[in-house]
Amino acid sequence: MELNALRISPATALCGVVLHPVAHTRSPAMHNAAYRALGIDAVFTAFDVPPARLGAAIAGARALGIRQLAISLPHKRAVMAHLDDVDETARRIGAVNTVTLQDGRLRGSNTDWLGLARALERETKLAGRHAVVLGAGGTARAAVFALRERGARVSVLNRTVARAEAIASELGAERAGGLELLAQLEWDVLVNTTSVGLRGDESPVAASALHAAGVVFDAVYAPPETRLLREAAVAGARTVGGKWMLVEQAVEQIRIWSGRSAPAEVLAEAFDAAG
Ligand code: NAP
Repeated sequence: MELNALRISPATALCGVVLHPVAHTRSPAMHNAAYRALGIDAVFTAFDVPPARLGAAIAGARALGIRQLAISLPHKRAVMAHLDDVDETARRIGAVNTVTLQDGRLRGSNTDWLGLARALERETKLAGRHAVVLGAGGTARAAVFALRERGARVSVLNRTVARAEAIASELGAERAGGLELLAQLEWDVLVNTTSVGLRGDESPVAASALHAAGVVFDAVYAPPETRLLREAAVAGARTVGGKWMLVEQAVEQIRIWSGRSAPAEVLAEAFDAAG
């Protein structure tokens, strides 16, 4: 976005994303598009903050009255130590992706889980379904929380089985195992939170383990169609790309500080255009 196109006044709210390395983030494009669509007087930028500077960055945000910060890798856990409050949901998930200034206090929350739930709900109801989560990192924790919150039964499969077992017992999943176990399970919803597919044309599971009655979601959003989603579509399954999680979690972030509901399609268009 061209800065000249912005109308900035002393009343303009400042928001941003904190991450390291700054790499290529589409959050400014999405949030600024939403502000324009809603007529919100705010601007959103990106802050490259290495881990050693995180505490100073949050103190600076507090002093400057920054309204909201999206928190991205690698800061989602470490940021909790620098806030006034962390809500119960973010505590259970073990990660904060949103810091909002409210009544002079910096409050940490997590919108990743809701983004993931809403992305899946574009294609399926979740209550009573059997969902399999692939992976056992930070995104898997948000996924298991989201699926349990929506009333799904959950299994967690991961390359390192001990990590899957730990998440399953902590967040209430009924089964844990290795990735190859998928072929032996009956499942309705498959959620990939491994980073397989991010760099190479690889899938975390065999194509033969996919089936036509399933809904398959991949948290990886670049490339937009991962090998897993391609093979799921060939198997006849419905697919949801990671873009919708990113979009929906941002919609929720905007709602938290502004009280306004941004149209997901506006953010999705901005995401595509920034690619
Ligand atoms: P993380 O904590 O580093 O976890 C990575 C997971 O991937 C672990 O379970 C790891 O298994 C597994 N993995 C890595 N390489 C593998 C391989 N070669 N074979 C099998 N499993 C492998 O990462 P994260 O923060 O949860 O993020 C995971 C993915 O979600 C990333 O691609 C990220 O971009 C994406 N994401 C998307 C959104 C969105 O809004 N769409 C939001 C957040 C994250 P081990 O435990 O065995 O190492």
